[in-house]
Amino acid sequence: MPKRDLSPATLAAQALAWPDPQHHGLVPSIHPSASYARAPDGSYPGGHSYSRDQNPTFDAPEALLAALEGGTKALLFASGMAAATTIFETLPPRAHVLVPRHMYWTIRGWLQALHDRGAIELEAYDNDDADHLASLLRKDHTALVWVETPSNPLGKLTDIETTVGLAHHAGAKVVADGTTATPVLCQPLSLGVDIVMHSATKQLNGHADVLAGALVTANPDDPMWQAIEHERGYRGAVLGPFEAWLLLRGMRTLFLRVPAACRGANRVAQMLVAHAGVDEVYYPGLPDHPGHDIARRQMRYGFGSMLSFRPAGGEARARAVMNRLNVFRDATSLGGLESLVEHRARIEGQRSPLPADLLRLSIGIEDSDDLIADLEQALSI
Ligand SMILES: *Cc1c(COP(=O)(O)O)cnc(C)c1O
Repeated sequence: MPKRDLSPATLAAQALAWPDPQHHGLVPSIHPSASYARAPDGSYPGGHSYSRDQNPTFDAPEALLAALEGGTKALLFASGMAAATTIFETLPPRAHVLVPRHMYWTIRGWLQALHDRGAIELEAYDNDDADHLASLLRKDHTALVWVETPSNPLGKLTDIETTVGLAHHAGAKVVADGTTATPVLCQPLSLGVDIVMHSATKQLNGHADVLAGALVTANPDDPMWQAIEHERGYRGAVLGPFEAWLLLRGMRTLFLRVPAACRGANRVAQMLVAHAGVDEVYYPGLPDHPGHDIARRQMRYGFGSMLSFRPAGGEARARAVMNRLNVFRDATSLGGLESLVEHRARIEGQRSPLPADLLRLSIGIEDSDDLIADLEQALSI
């Protein structure tokens, strides 16, 4: 069977059956060398010169991620932030950038700082309002539209196809932060997005033991992508070979872990919605979530492993509930094997658009009965 016909789950499980012509190992090797020897004519017989540009250990995880996203080229970075910030380094001075009102807080904060010092012109659109986005787009002027769906932490949905149609008509590029959906649940490139960005620290690696980021494209000849490739080599915000290898190992179980975590998240969301001690639950898998219909259209297998809720009784009770949880650990991040809880307003601070009593959950792969029992005992106060 030709490789291209295999399903993404098979490609991931086999790590593309990456060839090892020397030892025929089933698992790709780690290449620690920072530099590579030249031939007498000055060429590089192994195709590599220096690990700031490209390390052979990146090849398999980059190729696998590109395949899972339905793209042709991926680049690994030292973190999701390193991947995201590299994109903006390639924009012209004072570029007009549109971002969703609700998005990953640290990217938003960094872009705000760029705006404050006049490097870009930043405006925010309502995640789920295409008319609002259309009113902010400036034809042949807006450089980039950022999409994050479902958004972290409110799970707001953005219709990717509609957004791409509007943005491309105005001459703007579209980048989608695909971290919360993963390529298992959604493939933004197939909906027309120019570049997909990932915090691979989250579910792609999935074991909370690697910090990594990635960008993926279906069009590597695009001048913006070429500029990004050069920029990565200049900045040197690349992964170490061992981390790249660990990331590949993590990605091999993606198609087991993501659906399992989605099932757990869905059960937890159902339990919280029915609980008298809970005011509000934010999970796109719930039929009355405002983004549920879009989520059904552009996602498959599940609605993600992240959800948020507001316990009744305000911020003090929310913190008390969080502190009574025993199975959930109070820690930042998402997409690991273990379930986490976080009081987001405390870490986002003054400019956060979130309710002060919001608790975010990242659901791992534990038995969901244990997670539900833990939440029930914590909410019993
Ligand atoms: C964590 C996260 C990032 C940043 O990635 P790092 O690997 O922590 O730098 C970006 N976007 C989303 C949605 C995230 O959850």
